[in-house]
Amino acid sequence: MHTDDNAFTQLLEAKLALVRSQEILPEELIALVARVAPLLRQAQAEAVLVLPAPEACASPEAMFAGAPLLLRQHFPFDLKQALALMPALLDQLAASGGEAENGAKALRQALESGELDPESALRAFLDGDDTLFAAWRTRLPGSPRALDFLLTSALSPSLCAAAKQLAARLPENLPHEHGHCPLCGSLPFLSLLRDKEGKRFGACSFCGHEYRLRRIACAYCDESDQDKLKLFRVAEYPGVRVDVCETCNMYIKTLDFREMDQPYLPALDDMACVALDVLAQQQGYKRPTLSAWGF
Ligand SMILES: [Zn+2]
Ligand SMILES: [Zn+2]
Repeated sequence: MHTDDNAFTQLLEAKLALVRSQEILPEELIALVARVAPLLRQAQAEAVLVLPAPEACASPEAMFAGAPLLLRQHFPFDLKQALALMPALLDQLAASGGEAENGAKALRQALESGELDPESALRAFLDGDDTLFAAWRTRLPGSPRALDFLLTSALSPSLCAAAKQLAARLPENLPHEHGHCPLCGSLPFLSLLRDKEGKRFGACSFCGHEYRLRRIACAYCDESDQDKLKLFRVAEYPGVRVDVCETCNMYIKTLDFREMDQPYLPALDDMACVALDVLAQQQGYKRPTLSAWGF
């Protein structure tokens, strides 16, 4: 167990050093992730979950036709843990100082006064209802993603722990002609190439599950016409490419792990090549998902 913890700490340090070396993301944000990542890893190991009965999940027939096992609003999570994490996460956000501290203060006050009900906020996140989040983005222009960060981080340990358990219920040989996550139906925030054959996988933006994607197809709209799909690379980022789709105008970063047998942490690897997001967005392409941290 200690060896695991040490290995995680070393990996996290190495990834954070890589993120810092890019000199793009502000140090406060990187330091926040450095403080929060071990907290969330610990919480994932401790999450207490009640999995839904098999009858409440999609049937194998429905899944073969493209339905996810569960809808995200039905995903199990540890409510007690999520509620307990919220003050701890606000402490970490406040420790960033500046606008992040102001955002944390405003959220803490709203929670204490009852203006912001934590359970309803968690529910809104699971339902994918953006109204509350949009209101807080307007209200906190200096730290617009404070509430997104708070709820994404409070729930991600539960959701990732649930995904690990629920993955055992996926039928074997499930086709992968759609880009969404077979567990929860959400979109991937990154894709990965692995193995010598270069199998492609998506990393789910909601539950963290990793699942097969078609090699040549848009992960967002399923376009498979090669004339509509393009990719670009940048010399400074040899292990990453950006897949763009002219049909839906979205892009996804693809990390190439075929040559490298290196361990990865998708949430950190995403941050380590944020320069490619900037480039893709300058060219007018959009990213339909937030980072794994809610910003
Ligand atoms: Zn998922
Ligand atoms: Zn597309």
